[in-house]
Amino acid sequence: MTAGDAKLDRVLGAKTARALDSAFGLATVGDLLRHYPRRYAERGELTAIAGLEIGEHATVLAQVERVSKRTMRSRRGTIVEARITDGHRSLTCTFFNQAWRERELLPGRQGMFAGKVTAYRHQLQLAHPEYQLFDAGSATEAGGDEVHSAAEEFAAALIPVYPAAQGLPSWSIARCVGQVLDVWDGTEDPLPEALRERAGVMGLQEALHTIHRPRDLSEVESAGQRLKWDEALGVQLALARLRGASQERSAPASPPAEDGILAAFDQRLPFDLTTGQREIGERIAADLATEHPMNRLVQGEVGSGKTVVALRAMLQVVDSGRQAAMLAPTEVLAAQHARSLTGLLGDLARAGELDGAEQATRVTLLTGSLSTAQRKQAMLDAASGSAGIVVGTHALLQDRVSFADLGLVVVDEQHRFGVEQRDALRARGGAAAAPHVLVMTATPIPRTVAMTVYGDLETSSLRELPHGRASISTSVVPVAEKPNWLDRVWQRVCEEVAAGHQVYVVCPRVGDDEAAEGSSSRDEPASFAEDGTEESPRDGGNRQQRPPLAVIDIAARLREGPLADLRLGVLHGRLPAEDKDAAMRAFAAGELDVLVATTVVEVGVDVPNATAMVIMDAERFGVSQLHQLRGRVGRGSAPGLCLLVSEAMAGTATRERLDAVAATTDGFELARVDLQLRREGDILGATQSGRKSGLKMLSLLRDEDVIARAREEAEHVVGDDPQLREHPGLARMVAELVDEERAEFLEKS
Ligand code: ADP
Ligand code: MG
Repeated sequence: MTAGDAKLDRVLGAKTARALDSAFGLATVGDLLRHYPRRYAERGELTAIAGLEIGEHATVLAQVERVSKRTMRSRRGTIVEARITDGHRSLTCTFFNQAWRERELLPGRQGMFAGKVTAYRHQLQLAHPEYQLFDAGSATEAGGDEVHSAAEEFAAALIPVYPAAQGLPSWSIARCVGQVLDVWDGTEDPLPEALRERAGVMGLQEALHTIHRPRDLSEVESAGQRLKWDEALGVQLALARLRGASQERSAPASPPAEDGILAAFDQRLPFDLTTGQREIGERIAADLATEHPMNRLVQGEVGSGKTVVALRAMLQVVDSGRQAAMLAPTEVLAAQHARSLTGLLGDLARAGELDGAEQATRVTLLTGSLSTAQRKQAMLDAASGSAGIVVGTHALLQDRVSFADLGLVVVDEQHRFGVEQRDALRARGGAAAAPHVLVMTATPIPRTVAMTVYGDLETSSLRELPHGRASISTSVVPVAEKPNWLDRVWQRVCEEVAAGHQVYVVCPRVGDDEAAEGSSSRDEPASFAEDGTEESPRDGGNRQQRPPLAVIDIAARLREGPLADLRLGVLHGRLPAEDKDAAMRAFAAGELDVLVATTVVEVGVDVPNATAMVIMDAERFGVSQLHQLRGRVGRGSAPGLCLLVSEAMAGTATRERLDAVAATTDGFELARVDLQLRREGDILGATQSGRKSGLKMLSLLRDEDVIARAREEAEHVVGDDPQLREHPGLARMVAELVDEERAEFLEKS
């Protein structure tokens, strides 16, 4: 008698319902049924303790090895310490002032232990865990209010292990799910029968029952297949509708001109285009010439010359009397882009000036930190059309900037710009005409990610680097094990400068007691905590104890000590815009030897004379971020050097990650490593805006096949029924994945 949208308190009682809501945001019966087990434990199987991560809330199946009680010296009271083991490694559980636990946690007994993993004196620990021992009749939940029979809960051969929280151990959640399943009156299957048969998956109701109460692992597998299929299909349907909607819209056709600014630019180019640049250039030229909006992603290794590709596309649009906007993730980068585009164009960027070329246009920078007068002028240039190219940050499109005739938007270094933002961007042209969109990223994208996160785009890859590009060698400097190697690092910096080169020193934080890290200032790319390196350290040591190294502190230390003789500048997002610009300019002009900076240098900065980069606290950065960062050196003819300074110990996962970055400069290989290490939810668009991603079961790493099949099926369905009118169940599935705003947008188009 209970429907999926019934509130949980009707079934479970107010207190439990509240706990589930506050821990996991589970409000309804349906929500709880979608709270799938993370894994299944077999009776007698013990959890590998070596795989636990500091800071995670873990549920461990283990055996008590020994137990002891002692009296605390400093405070009054007792401590019971139980060592539990998986047969290889052990974990200490501590209990304060609960002497009776000594009598219960007898050596040899097995059970489930749940709590937050911490480290104390290099020993893994669970402080005050909740636990449930397996032997019948003696179950207990520390801190819980119910005592019930373990025999009943563990009668099944497979024990579902749920994502758990303090006060809500896995076994309590299992009990709640059981109660809900007993009264749940099922759900209608959103998949039409024919489609379900083609996919070869079981019914939804059966799948939801089975995933919580499987008899064996093969049942888990087939139930999982169904639930994965729904997720993959939902995403692909949404994307197929997006692509369809975009093709129905019209865009300003900008066919190539015979002898316009593009032709003049090509003549002036001091180098030959690479084969890749030429081929992609032709695809783009053809896309721009059609009357439907281009939606293209160009992925190309760092230094592969994407800027020229983008500029040539922009010039084709300018040739047909329209404008192009280029969006960068930070103001520093926008300013740099404006400068380098102006530089590349030479007299072609000086329309209206005495020495301007005949076909010339203007490049205008439009950012939040311009003075009021400058900003007014820039707005005017954009609105009047006198600026053929307008460069700004992503905010450019949110502000009330109007263009005379916007034909193309280029989004550079786009990994912070999701499906939804791109959507908003396309909608900007109004229903009548959407601008063409060209997205560029230096982070190579595995196929599954291309099919999901970038599924609204067609992709092209720029694989080759221009000739004569020097190589970059990367080494990890393990300062925990070899403290004096740090001196050697600074020596190396001095040698590099003595040879006439320049060096970046990158730190994860600005310093000087800013509030939150990384994203605290507008100009700092917000990716810092994106891959979880900050929140859940994976190195088996307690990293949270020391705040990340800061630009301000390191710069001061270097100035006083090892780099006292060098000209040193700082660059970070909290500097006033003109100081940022001045620092970047001075470094580019060779007036500074060393630039101590945050990740503001991560993307796009191009100073060919910079040959070395030292990255402090390297473990605090994600894989692709490190790859991007080191792409800033070795851009000239001299070989590049990148030193990853880290306290991560050999053998830890964190160190492995750094070693992987040091071992290869192949972005595609690193993208794969990155995908393995990141929490998958973080890669999927929806979470970028703080919403829960609908994808719980689907793995971008393992389910390439499912995703590809779902994509085909979605193309097929949407091709026949663009509005999904004949498929209300599928329409609902899509609606559950996309937020209302987006759904509305889909309705309108
Ligand atoms: P990225 O793909 O990382 O954005 P850029 O567009 O900044 O790379 O290009 C890196 C450098 O290579 C720039 O200095 C650019 O002028 C130069 N470059 C681009 N294309 C070529 C080419 N075909 N031959 C030689 N140099 C090139
Ligand atoms: Mg670039």
